[in-house]
Amino acid sequence: MSSSPPPASPDGALRYRVDHTGTTIAVLPATCKGGRHLVIPGVSRAIAVEDEVRIDCPVCAATPGADATWRLSSSGPSPDRAELDDEPYGDLILRRVRTVAGTR
Ligand SMILES: [Zn+2]
Repeated sequence: MSSSPPPASPDGALRYRVDHTGTTIAVLPATCKGGRHLVIPGVSRAIAVEDEVRIDCPVCAATPGADATWRLSSSGPSPDRAELDDEPYGDLILRRVRTVAGTR
């Protein structure tokens, strides 16, 4: 009963923005990788590993065969805080939704 290994490469690059006070903010996708749920702080887990941020969707994680985890490469400075926004990930999410729709 082992989960399938993660793909070799990340889904994309982690986006950042800097606010008017100079604070670096990591922008995480607000939609789960499956494209079906919202990423909810405190429910979905965001884990920063060495050069990558992973965001789990607990609903997809409980669904057999669903790809539940965003993997975003983070090469920038470690952010002071994080926020959720789909906009910088529009293409990525659209592609995911299409992929999901195309396999069913
Ligand atoms: Zn999900």
